[in-house]
This record gives sequence, structure tokens and C-alpha cells, in this order.
Amino acid sequence: MKPRKILPIWLMSILVAIMITSLVTQATSEPEKVIEVVYVEVEHEIPEEVETVTMEPTESQRVSLGTFTLTAYCSCPTCCGEWADGYTFTGEKATEGITIATYPEQIPMGTEVEIDGIGTRIAQDIGGSIYENRIDVYMDSHRAALDFGVQEREVFITE
Ligand SMILES: [Zn+2]
Repeated sequence: MKPRKILPIWLMSILVAIMITSLVTQATSEPEKVIEVVYVEVEHEIPEEVETVTMEPTESQRVSLGTFTLTAYCSCPTCCGEWADGYTFTGEKATEGITIATYPEQIPMGTEVEIDGIGTRIAQDIGGSIYENRIDVYMDSHRAALDFGVQEREVFITE
């Protein structure tokens, strides 16, 4: 009786050990998957906004303001000099994905615009070098702003 009882316990403990190992392997591999998903979502943010931009003309009229020269800036002293406090001309907190600086006589503060390939932004800021057909796109990091470089894009107003 005794050997018969002991053997299944060994087998079971081996099985349990295998199960635990596979669970641990899954558990340790899952966080990596989560991180990958987060990266994918971040990378897809812009294309998703582009989709919204292309979907909207069916519901509302888009009026092209023409091609703009776009640059990017952050809230660092290099980009903003004495105004490097993280707040925009309109008093809003500068926010990546929302804030742009425009020439207010062309695009008044508070105007929502759609930048082709970038998405919807709101005119919340001004800049010394921002005049007609120029937009400065706010970024959280100076590196990202530098990487943005200079881009030519069509800009629309939704009516
Ligand atoms: Zn900067």
C-alpha cells in the first residue's frame, strides 16, 4: 500500500512543479507583453487622430487654411526663454496633443484646427517667430520637439 501511495504524490508534485513553472513563466512574460501593448498604443495615437480627421468631413465642413510650416517647441528656456513656465499665452497649461502656437490674427486663440497627418489641436499660444502660415506644435520634451524638425502640412478649420 505504501509505495503505491507515495508514487502518485511524487507524480503530482512533479506535475504541480511543472504547472507552477509554466505559471511563473507566463507571469514573468506577461509584463513584457503589457509594455509592448503600451508602446503600440502610443505609436498609434497619431494615426488614430488622423482617422478622426478623415472621418469628420462627412459630418462637418472642413475649410483648408493652406499649407503651413510647422515646427515644435517644449516649455524649456531654450524654446520659451523668459516664458518657460509651462503655461501658454491663454493661461492654459501647455499640453502635448492639444497645444499649438499660432499667429492669432490668422488663427485666433481658442480655435480648433486640424493639421493633416497630426490631428486636432487648439490655438493656445503665440510665439515671436510665429506669423502667418506658421504653427508651433507643443511637445512635452525638447528632444521630441527637435525630432519634429520642420514640416509642411495642410491645416484645416472645422466649421
Ligand atoms: Zn525645448
